[in-house]
Amino acid sequence: MKQKVDWIIHCCENGACDECGRVETNFLPYTCNAHTHGMERYEHMDFQMVLHLGHREIMRILNTLGLRVQAGERFKDGDMVAGIYEDCNIRLTKYIETGRWVLRVIIPDKYNVFPEDDHCMETYRLQLLKTDALCPSDRFWV
Ligand SMILES: [Zn+2]
Repeated sequence: MKQKVDWIIHCCENGACDECGRVETNFLPYTCNAHTHGMERYEHMDFQMVLHLGHREIMRILNTLGLRVQAGERFKDGDMVAGIYEDCNIRLTKYIETGRWVLRVIIPDKYNVFPEDDHCMETYRLQLLKTDALCPSDRFWV
């Protein structure tokens, strides 16, 4: 049976919103607040990604995780997840996104170093920021 994506992905980011035309400029460079809505259907937390790796990659990762939940897999805070990248695991860490808990995808840098390590590349360290801190003067989350 073919699996069907029955959740949505929001990507709050710098630039003009397709729907309202409002222009967002407050996100720190290389960050966004991309997240799913609808995983509660599977009694599961939604997922979030805050590194702006491009829409295709964000969709690929969030949808891959969603499809795995749909197929019966369950993820929790602190899990290391294989199968997203060939050469490294990602980690899922609980964060608050617009008043709810989500599992944030934490991606190690190209040397496979995770953000809490001082040697991690600067951009990847931004993944440790609270959701609000990614977009400092913005209070307009969808
Ligand atoms: Zn949203």
